[in-house]
Amino acid sequence: MNKETNPLHRHPSIAVYPGSFDPVTKGHLDIIHRSAKLFDRLIVAVSHNSSKTPLFTMDERKQLLLGATRDLDNVEIDSFDGLLVNYLRKRNARLIIRGLRAMTDFEFELQMASTNRKLSEEAETFFMSTSPEYSYLSSSIVKEIAKYAGPVGDLVPPDVEQALRAKFPQVQ
Ligand code: ADP
Repeated sequence: MNKETNPLHRHPSIAVYPGSFDPVTKGHLDIIHRSAKLFDRLIVAVSHNSSKTPLFTMDERKQLLLGATRDLDNVEIDSFDGLLVNYLRKRNARLIIRGLRAMTDFEFELQMASTNRKLSEEAETFFMSTSPEYSYLSSSIVKEIAKYAGPVGDLVPPDVEQALRAKFPQVQ
């Protein structure tokens, strides 16, 4: 099957990687780098997510992501509010990327993927398994370590490390 007849090649593939990214970690960046190679365009979409109170503002989270993905031509940073499936439609995309760290992620992620399928027939979730060295890593863990002045240099890019220091100045 050539590019013209294979339906997968008819349109550029646009994938959306949604999340809180509060803040972006090397675990997220691993998923971003790997999925940017698989799709024509990757949109990292920062969620306003009203159920969590973020440490970083929307603007800060986007800036940190922009800085960390500067070298990737086909990666765009955006934000969205409300249902992910509505955002997908707006962006003319149908692929959702999510990272899986451990079995504990699985149940919730499967529930979300099924819900999105129910809400939009076209939506397809692709799960990408974490690289083993980041399997324990989450934004919450990073914030917890930074709060008590622990070292986060191996877990986040330098700009994020600096931004965390600025958020917790009293303990540095
Ligand atoms: P959310 O609040 O939507 O879970 P996060 O910013 O915490 O947003 O995570 C966004 C996505 O990145 C999720 O799919 C999450 O499983 C994945 N992710 C987070 N940390 C890692 C990691 N260390 N390795 C692989 N995937 C990860």
